[in-house]
Amino acid sequence: MRPEYGSTSRTSSQTDGRPKSDVMRTKILLLGMRRSGKTSIQEVLFKNLPAKQTFYLERTTRLTKHTYDTVIPLEIWDCPGDMNLDSLDVPLSQFATLIFVIDIQDLYQPSITKIVKMVIAAYKESPRINLEVFVHKADTLSEEYRMDNWRYTQQRILDELGDISPEYEQMIPINFHLTSIHDHTLHDAFSRTLHKSIESLPYLEDLLNVFCTNSQSSKAFLFDINSRLYVATDASPVDAPTHSLCNDYLLMLNSFGSLYKSISASPARHKPPTPPLFTTSPTSSLPASPRLSSGSHSTRSVPRSPLLSYRGAPAPPPVLDQPPSANGKSKALFYPSASTTLAPSAVGVPAGTTLTYHVVTRRLALLALIPTAVWEQRRGLVEYNVVFFREGVQEICDVEEEVRGGG
Ligand code: GDP
Repeated sequence: MRPEYGSTSRTSSQTDGRPKSDVMRTKILLLGMRRSGKTSIQEVLFKNLPAKQTFYLERTTRLTKHTYDTVIPLEIWDCPGDMNLDSLDVPLSQFATLIFVIDIQDLYQPSITKIVKMVIAAYKESPRINLEVFVHKADTLSEEYRMDNWRYTQQRILDELGDISPEYEQMIPINFHLTSIHDHTLHDAFSRTLHKSIESLPYLEDLLNVFCTNSQSSKAFLFDINSRLYVATDASPVDAPTHSLCNDYLLMLNSFGSLYKSISASPARHKPPTPPLFTTSPTSSLPASPRLSSGSHSTRSVPRSPLLSYRGAPAPPPVLDQPPSANGKSKALFYPSASTTLAPSAVGVPAGTTLTYHVVTRRLALLALIPTAVWEQRRGLVEYNVVFFREGVQEICDVEEEVRGGG
C-alpha cells in the first residue's frame, strides 16, 4: 500500500511538546464570517477547551496554523473573518479540505455570497478539494427553527450557485453538516470530513469489519483518544445515540486518566515489564483470527500481521489507566482497557450490551458494543481479536508514518 498525498505539504512543527520535523501534513482550511465559531471549533476539538470557555476566546486577527497528529498529521488553518482566498500565501490546491463555518442564525446575503464565491474559486483552482459547510451553533435554535434554517441555508447556497451557472450546482459537490460545540454533532461532522483525507481508511474499515464479525460486535469505532474524533468505523451505519454514548465514555475515561498519573509515575511502574502474553515474530502471515460466530471475513485484503506466538506468561489484567502520553515509548507495551455494561434504558442499543474500550496505539482506541453474554463468557477471545486488530492498525500507522516522514 503506497498512499498518495495530493493535498499535503512538508512542515516543521512542534506538537504535544514533541518536535516533528519535515512531516507531510494534510491541510484543512477553516473559513467563515467573523464570530461564526471557527476558533471555537478548533479549540474544542484539538485543545480540549470546554465549550463554555470559548466565550472568552480572543478575536482571531491573523491567520493561525495549528498542528495535530492523529492517524494522519494535520495542519488546521484558522482564518480571520475578513480574510479572502487571495491573501493566502499558498495555492488552494495545497489544501485537502475547506470548511466553511456559518452561524445558523446568519441568513443574511453577504455570508451566503461570500461562501458561494469561495466555493467557486476553490473548485476552479482545485476541483478535487473537499468542500464542507458547517451550519454551526445549531444549539441556539429550537428543533423546529433549527431544521428550517438548516434547509434554508443549504437551499440558498445551492440556488446561488445555480444562478451563477447551472453547471456549478450540478458539478460542485458540497457536504452540509449541522454542528454545535455543545454536543457531539461537531465531532461527528469533523470525523466524516477527516475520513475523506485518510488514504488508509478502507484498510482500517476492513479491520473493524473483521473485528465486529469475529467478536459479535454490533458497532465499533476507532477513536482518536484526545480529540475524540473517530478515524474509522465498521460498515454498519453510525447512529447519533451510539456515537454519543461512545464519545461520552471516552470523555469520561480521558478525564479519569489524570487521576492515575501518580500510579504510572511510581517506581513500581519502572520495573522491567513482565513478559507480555504475546510477542511478535517477524516472519509468517496473519493466521485466521478465532471467531465467535460463523460470519464471513471481508474479501478485501487487509494488512498482514506478524504471527503471534504464545510465551506462556500470565496475561496482565486489563488496567484502567490514562491514555498513553505523547512521549509514549516507555509505555509501548501497556495497553489499558475498560468496559461498562450499558443500562437497559440506554438509547439506541439493545438490552444486555457492554461497551468496551481498548487502547490500540498511543493515539488511538477501539470502542465496541458487544453483547454482555459474549463479553462475560468469551472475553478472552474478544481480547485475542483485539490483539490482531491492534497489530493491523499499528502496521497501517507505521506505513503512514513512513510515507509522511518525520515520525
Ligand atoms: P470566530 O471569529 O469564527 O473564530 O468565532 P469564535 O470561535 O471566536 O466564536 C464566536 C462566539 O461564538 C464565541 O462566543 C463562542 O462561544 C460562540 N460559539 C462558537 N461555537 C458555538 C456553538 O456551537 N454554539 C454556541 N451557542 N455558541 C458558539
